[in-house]
Amino acid sequence: MLIVMESAATEEQIRGVIDRIQALGLRAHPIPGAERTAIGITGNHGPLDPAEFEILSGVQQAIRVTKPYKLVSREVKASGSVIQVGGRPVGGPRLTIIAGPCAVETEDRTLAIARQVAAAGADLFRAGAFKPRTSPYSFQGLGLEGLRILARVRRETGLPIVTEAVDEESMAMVEDHADAVQIGARNMQNFSLLKRAGKSKLPVFLKRGLSATLDEFLMAAEYIVSEGNYQVFLCERGVRTFADHSRNTLDLAIVPSVKHLSHLPILVDPSHGTGRRDKVIPLARAAIAVGADGVMVEVHDDPSRALSDGPQAILPDQFAALVGDIRAMAGLVGRLHD
Ligand code: PEP
Ligand code: MN
Repeated sequence: MLIVMESAATEEQIRGVIDRIQALGLRAHPIPGAERTAIGITGNHGPLDPAEFEILSGVQQAIRVTKPYKLVSREVKASGSVIQVGGRPVGGPRLTIIAGPCAVETEDRTLAIARQVAAAGADLFRAGAFKPRTSPYSFQGLGLEGLRILARVRRETGLPIVTEAVDEESMAMVEDHADAVQIGARNMQNFSLLKRAGKSKLPVFLKRGLSATLDEFLMAAEYIVSEGNYQVFLCERGVRTFADHSRNTLDLAIVPSVKHLSHLPILVDPSHGTGRRDKVIPLARAAIAVGADGVMVEVHDDPSRALSDGPQAILPDQFAALVGDIRAMAGLVGRLHD
């Protein structure tokens, strides 16, 4: 149920509606808008009667939300959300470019790559300190030491940090060191981790699961938002198909689909989406063309020696060229990047 307040509704009337919702044992989610405030209701197990809310002072209308995901849907909030990550906007007119190596390897290397991507025009820096690897024998990440390196990278370069948490323990550590927490593809349906992220003070960068449908993806985001954390931005990173010419199949069609159904920003990761260096730049450009709010790309200065995902890492000068392409394209798709 969505309660739409009158445009002239007072704070007191809004409070009165929230109190009524809470008195019914339900959860109220106020959503301020340019014209008027809306209040989403969750926690009900059966349908609610709109009349029960329409009699309250200051209420214009009570509407049943038809989608299974409510708070992330455009039915509840028509305008696109803008998420602040370390003071930089994600969503809205400005495109966001996230770049960095797959993993934090050493302090010197991480800092060297960060300086290069910052100079080229990256908005946010990425690198994993906790790596979810297919093999238990592969490099698992530096853990807390990796997070300390990332915090130093932020101090040196000014770039806000996005990094993955793989469980509740690493979530607490990421909260102390980073500007946004990433939930990776393998954890997209780890519901206890999603609920924990919903209680976090950090924005959450939620990647699509390896075989998740659009509905499953948006329901995963709903888990986070329903716990009270509205700062969620999404990432398409490719799904499993029969195709074997790329690591995953990058499903760019999900971008306009998400834009239609949800107000959350969506970025595209052509690095994991293709797994091959030569495909990253063409697919990054395609992502901007279909209306993504930005891209996340893996960059490494010596990919043949990278401890993870070397074959899909682009070189710093290729990244600089990509930023130039994105800037050139931005105006064509009604966006900006300076
Ligand atoms: C990553 O971004 O480092 C990563 C592990 O991605 P994904 O969860 O999409 O595989
Ligand atoms: Mn990677």
